[in-house]
Parts: sequence; C-alpha cells; structure tokens
Amino acid sequence: MDNLLNYELIELNDIVSGLGEKSFRAGQVFGWLAKGVASFDEMRNVPAALRQRLSEQYYIGLPAVVAVQRSAEDGTVKCLFEYAGPNDGAVAVRIESVLMRYEYGNSICISSQAGCRMGCRFCASTRNGLVRNLTAGEMLGQVLAMRNLLRETDPAADIRHIVVMGMGEPFDNYDELSRFLRIVHDPKGYNLGMRNITVSTCGIVPMIGRFAEDFPQVNVAISLHAPNDAVRRETMPIARKYSMEELLNACANYAERTGRRVTFEYALIRGVNDGADQAAELATMLKKHIPAQFLHVNLIPLNSVDGTGLAGTDRAAAESFCSVLEKRGVQATVRRTLGSDIDAACGQLRSRY
Ligand code: SAH
Repeated sequence: MDNLLNYELIELNDIVSGLGEKSFRAGQVFGWLAKGVASFDEMRNVPAALRQRLSEQYYIGLPAVVAVQRSAEDGTVKCLFEYAGPNDGAVAVRIESVLMRYEYGNSICISSQAGCRMGCRFCASTRNGLVRNLTAGEMLGQVLAMRNLLRETDPAADIRHIVVMGMGEPFDNYDELSRFLRIVHDPKGYNLGMRNITVSTCGIVPMIGRFAEDFPQVNVAISLHAPNDAVRRETMPIARKYSMEELLNACANYAERTGRRVTFEYALIRGVNDGADQAAELATMLKKHIPAQFLHVNLIPLNSVDGTGLAGTDRAAAESFCSVLEKRGVQATVRRTLGSDIDAACGQLRSRY
C-alpha cells in the first residue's frame, strides 16, 4: 500500500488512467486530498468504482494525533503526530508540528525529518540522530491534519503560511522537500503561493544554489548563529564542512538570482555569541558578502535544552545586540518566542511521551 498524499497531480493522472478511468478524475481526487479528507468515501463526486480501486492499492496518509497542547498565552498549538507506516514498511515515527497565530494569519511549522543528523549542540531534535526522512506526503499530512484539528472548533479556519523549521534539516531530504513544495503549491490542490513558504537550513551550501534555481519564490532562512567560523564551529558541525565565506557567497547568489531577501536566524547564546563586539563583527561579515537590502537578521534568545550547558541571552542583551546591528545598517528583529509555555518554542520539538 502506498500513501496517495505522496503524488503530484501529473502522477495521479497516470494512476487514475492506469485504473481504467478518465484522467480528469485525478484532478478531483487531488482536490479532495488537499481538502484533508481521511477516507475515499468522502470524495463525493468520484465514482464509487474508482474509490474502491484506489482504496485497494492506496491509503490517505494523514497522521494519527497522539497529543495536542494549546498555549494559554498566545494560542499556539503543538501537535504530536504519528506516522505508523503500517503498509509501506516504513518505520513508525512521532514528529511534532506547531501552529502559530500571527496578525497575517495562521502559520504552521512542519518537520521534514524524524530526528536530524546535523548535530547542532543547542538543538533538541538532533540528539538521537536521524530516524528517517519524512516523505512529501508526510509533510503535507502535517498541514492537513493540523487544519482538520482547527476546523473542529472553527470550520472556517485555514493555514496559508508554512515554515519548514521543525524537526530535521530540509536540505538533507531535498527530493521529498521539493516534491512536497510542488504538491502544496499546485492550484488544483492546496494552492499555496510559493511566497507563503519559508524553508530554513543550517547551511548545506550546494543545496542553496540548487534551491534558488528550483524554487526562486520560496523564502530561505539560514541558521547562522555566529559572527565567524570559530564561534560557529563550536555549536554547529556543518560549519566544519562549509565556511562562512562559502555560505554567505551562496546566499549572495541566491539574493541576486531571486531578488529575495535572506533571513538569518541567530539564536543568542549567553557568553558564546551574544557580545556587542560580536554583533559588530556579524554586521561587518554580512555586509561584506551581501548587499544590506537583502539582509535580515532574526534574533531569538536560545531556548535552553537540558544537558547542553548552553543558556539564552536575556531580553535586554538581545535588544542591545539588535541595536548594534541596526546602527550598522543591518535590519534585525528580536523575535517573540511563541508557545514557550508548551515547549513549542524553537529547538524544543521533542516529545515527552
Ligand atoms: N535544520 C533547519 C531547520 C530546523 S531548526 C535549520 O537548521 O535551520 C529551526 C531553527 O531553530 C533553526 O534556526 C535552529 O538553529 C533553531 N534552533 C534549534 N535549537 C534551538 C534552540 N534551543 N533555541 C533556539 N533556536 C533553536
């Protein structure tokens, strides 16, 4: 059995014609899948014979909801999902997705892998390494299941922004990531604008160039977390593979190729990367490689993860780090941490179960 959520419309056409049906039926099926239906029976305008034949070979791989936590402070919703992978032989995994509420609407932070092999010292998701990649359908399933959950209490609820910033390194699972992007973007399906999607990477340099070619309208965020290679190598193993110079040059090419701004994520770690001199160094380093209008730095005090010995910078120090950047002409913001009362904040995506 095969998860039907993994397929692009063009492939669904072949599947449906292979079952002896007119290929326009594929568009109907694809549309129903994007609505989040859990069974073939809900596909009302699809002939019963086709529904039957589909269900003999395929399943609709929405995740099981293991647990839901809602933040009393800001409405953030964290879901622990499970993909049992019973039929296709995949290992069962539990992953988390977080729904954040902004003025511009709902945004979901999805996972791209179960676990991660990047090994960043401050991050909870990588502690036990990579379990397995998620498929495109498993990325889509998080969005659909979260929206179904919201619609239980608010039938008009929708999710029109996606950030791939949950568990995992999306560029370490590039093929499934790109398949997911094509599926969720398709106007006959979920119909989400590429501009409403952001992919965050720890900086796998060759993939940044490729992504700029393949998805020039998708936003890219780079987890930088340091003003120079020496500091970056203390917390991020990937920095030993690619230098900051290579990384920032790839970002400059991305900006030039796409005309889009690059967001740099910078988790402020007390005594490691949060000094005023380091802010100045960061500004110089960024401007040396990338024109200022293409730069944005997102500062977020580190959420401490047990056993790492790393702590977050306090709010006041974060603000002053921010103002050093701004004085030097680098746009920066100190991010609100949403959902911290439910362990949904950055780097906290791990289960208590
Ligand atoms: N692998 C991708 C996306 C997942 S991590 C990446 O590295 O970008 C999403 C973001 O959370 C990254 O910027 C990551 O560095 C950050 N992060 C991880 N642990 C954190 C923590 N404890 N506190 C704050 N941010 C953290």
